[in-house]
Amino acid sequence: MTSPTGGCLCGAVRFRIDGGLRDVVFCHCTRCRRFHGHVGAYTECARSDLTLTSDEALRWFTLDGSSRGFCSACGSSLFWSREELETISVAAGALDEPTGLQPLRHVFVADAGDYYEIADGLERFPSWGT
Ligand SMILES: [Zn+2]
Ligand SMILES: [Zn+2]
Repeated sequence: MTSPTGGCLCGAVRFRIDGGLRDVVFCHCTRCRRFHGHVGAYTECARSDLTLTSDEALRWFTLDGSSRGFCSACGSSLFWSREELETISVAAGALDEPTGLQPLRHVFVADAGDYYEIADGLERFPSWGT
């Protein structure tokens, strides 16, 4: 199996993941919705499995210990991480297809926006999922 790859809209940020990916968690928190323009859809991998093959345009915005990575050239939102975690969240929409991923669960549904409904049968958590 080849390693998943991905990148931003303009291609200035590109990455490769040499390891397993978690299925996709949808985060409805206010911060994710502002950062992504809507719900955050994240896969996750071990930090050590992520290789940035092109990252000169990658910038990080940190708030309360959570860092969000984005492309400074095209604005694509790409990563979420906290220093103490050994994993890093990767925006599922940034991956090259086919991703082979499935939807997993919704988190922070207590903060969901008032302009949509969660209409699938996936498990939901008011804040962090387990
Ligand atoms: Zn870009
Ligand atoms: Zn969130």
